[in-house]
Amino acid sequence: MSQIEFHNVSKIYPNGHIGLKDINLSIDEGEFVIVVGLSGAGKSTLLRSINRLHDVTSGDIIISGESITKAKGKKLLEIRRNIGMIFQTFNLVKRSSVLKNVLSGRVGYHSTWKMILGLFPKKDKIIALEALDRVNILEKAHDRADSLSGGQQQRVSIARALSQQPKIILADEPTASLDPKTTRQVMNDLKRINEDMGITIIINLHFIDLALEYGERIIGMRDGKVVYDDLKVNTSEED
Ligand code: ADP
Ligand code: ADP
Repeated sequence: MSQIEFHNVSKIYPNGHIGLKDINLSIDEGEFVIVVGLSGAGKSTLLRSINRLHDVTSGDIIISGESITKAKGKKLLEIRRNIGMIFQTFNLVKRSSVLKNVLSGRVGYHSTWKMILGLFPKKDKIIALEALDRVNILEKAHDRADSLSGGQQQRVSIARALSQQPKIILADEPTASLDPKTTRQVMNDLKRINEDMGITIIINLHFIDLALEYGERIIGMRDGKVVYDDLKVNTSEED
């Protein structure tokens, strides 16, 4: 069943730049999708539209049957809670511990004052520690976030997204500031999370070789439009 649907979505920025131009797209639960395209093609705009980090200019985006474009208040928070996000520059709170950073993924499940005081129930801590374990950096839980290497910090940000217990993870150029070896580790982590947990993952990349190696479905963008959309042929698949 389709989990994410774009219906004639356009996004024009206030300065007149076209982010997205009449996008129609459908992504199923459990897909592993890589979006490729040159800088300025619209990849970030596409991803940011899915969890409504910005409003689109026209069209509708449906997440699990509900319009995130039209959602307000509690409903919007509820839809967003199911969507984790990973950024190129990690976006961690540098001076906080790894565990505190990961726990911040639980915020959507609580009232704000608890988050401000850092009062998370034991259950949240267990979820956060499990997430750290899944990306193999449990032993760093009490270290300061900025004491970790780039690859480790990106794994913390994956753990933060996981602790949200999302159905969808969006990753905007997650490997752009990493070296080739760490890039592979992060891509392998994301792939494993998709396979083991069934979480839908959409990754923006600007390297086509990496996309071809990992993507089960590759979406190519140019000038705000989808110019290519294909499932990679899997020869071992029968049906
Ligand atoms: P990327 O290609 O990874 O999206 P960019 O360097 O294009 O990165 O953009 C970095 C940030 O600047 C993003 O938050 C993007 O939304 C914003 N941005 C990009 N182009 C413009 C622009 N022309 N005017 C204002 N902000 C922009
Ligand atoms: P990509 O992620 O593929 O590099 P973007 O989605 O960042 O592409 O950018 C698509 C187009 O939208 C570009 O022309 C870019 O300059 C413009 N753009 C992106 N973010 C902003 C912004 N915040 N303000 C104005 N223009 C932007």
